[in-house]
Amino acid sequence: MDYLERVRQVKKSSKRGDYLLYWMQGAFRVEYNHSLEFAKYLAIDKNLPLKVLVVVDFSYKDANYRHFKFFIDGLLELADRFKDLKISFHVKIGPFTEIVPQYLRKADSLITDKAYLKWLKDVRNEIYKNNDVNIYEVDTNLVVPVQAASTKIEYGAYTIRPKIHKLKEKFLNDFVIFDYQGGSFEIENDLNGLSIDEKLKSVHYLKPVDFKGGESEADKLLRDFLNEKYYFFAEKRGDPALDFESNLSFYLHFGFISPIKILKEALKIDTNPENYETLFEQLVVRRELAHNFTYYCDDIYDLFSFLPDWAINTLIEHKNDMRNYRYTLEDFESFKTHDKFWNAAQYELIHKGKIHNYMRMYWGKKVIEWTESFEDAYKVLVYLNDKYALDGRDPNGYAGIAWCFGMHDRAFQERKIFGKVRYMSENGLKQKFDMNRYLSRVIS
Ligand SMILES: Cc1cc2nc3c(=O)[nH]c(=O)nc-3n(C[C@H](O)[C@H](O)[C@H](O)COP(=O)(O)OP(=O)(O)OC[C@H]3O[C@@H](n4cnc5c(N)ncnc54)[C@H](O)[C@@H]3O)c2cc1C
Repeated sequence: MDYLERVRQVKKSSKRGDYLLYWMQGAFRVEYNHSLEFAKYLAIDKNLPLKVLVVVDFSYKDANYRHFKFFIDGLLELADRFKDLKISFHVKIGPFTEIVPQYLRKADSLITDKAYLKWLKDVRNEIYKNNDVNIYEVDTNLVVPVQAASTKIEYGAYTIRPKIHKLKEKFLNDFVIFDYQGGSFEIENDLNGLSIDEKLKSVHYLKPVDFKGGESEADKLLRDFLNEKYYFFAEKRGDPALDFESNLSFYLHFGFISPIKILKEALKIDTNPENYETLFEQLVVRRELAHNFTYYCDDIYDLFSFLPDWAINTLIEHKNDMRNYRYTLEDFESFKTHDKFWNAAQYELIHKGKIHNYMRMYWGKKVIEWTESFEDAYKVLVYLNDKYALDGRDPNGYAGIAWCFGMHDRAFQERKIFGKVRYMSENGLKQKFDMNRYLSRVIS
């Protein structure tokens, strides 16, 4: 079985049940979903029907209307896909720890997507602990499964890169589709019959962004990216005055698309190899470094528990340095700083649901420079990113913010406030890019 390195049996049981349960929790798609295929394989092997369960938990950590709207649009489409596949699909509203056990009572085995954040691992562990059933976790959202790439927290891209490159061929090509014919099936959807506002009445309102959730929307965006932007990706992706990013982070975050699919489609395009190399570096090396960080880090909210020693020492030395500007969370949130480029980045975050990758680094660095303490700056950044970014609450977000404080980076020449942590300046932006073009592109 080709998938075995993606699959971990986390609990064994002698209990026999009536069906296999795939609790879809991180990979909300049909294509390139190793968890779904493994569940189909087990169903064929055990000659039992398969049920796919999605739980919509409105108390999901830090999620608001913007996130749920995107997610639910994708789920509605998924229900149609499962109907076509004739596989039972259940969408239930309620807490994970109540709904999943209800479906486990008569289940033979549980298959679920691997989690990379501690709180999501804790939810799973509570369910695993209290239910006597065979349990399998499948690592389907990464090219190289997190535990296969490394068994410890990595220092930086330079340490994880060779590990990933060594294993990439194997894991880019391990996907197999199983021909499961389940016979009778049912589609049960708690979301049917309610307007979106009725469904989301208990959720904090935040205006949705101009992207629609779902697997087919992800496909459409991927095709547009490959046809229009990919030919110039290496050269232009880093320029905030231009719009050459893929925006696929929204869909990757919700598991509406697999990075393997993105790479396979990109490989079909006849273009300068630099474009594929740049995509691989971001989508695989950097993204999987971020997942390595959150998977092995005990507390992603405690800055000084995970930074490298050189960064901790230098920040402690500079913690009392005078800040020329000091802003509160409210100032930041309502883009009221003296810096029009920073304000534009925050505006972009609020209105588009993410910031251009170069400006995202600048955005993080300046909050450090203009906040009373490093701990407060970290809290402000996590709060703003998780609230407004549609791709927020993701390993990439926590690793990206941690990077601003020196994580996965090296020491630079010492200066005030930042010590040896890399600094970014407004002049640097103006020298490198047409920043007026960035302003007019972002602020409409
Ligand atoms: C302070 C800060 C906060 C960030 N917050 C988030 C976040 O909440 N969610 C998020 O997905 N990314 C975050 N990033 C990383 C990066 O900025 C985004 O992944 C990228 O801009 C997403 O846009 P895109 O999909 O158009 O990227 P593209 O340039 O088209 O890249 C394709 C994919 O590669 C991956 N990728 C690109 N850059 C990075 C990176 N630096 N680290 C890890 N993966 C990367 C993403 O999955 C992305 O979708 C953050 C970076 C910083 C510095």
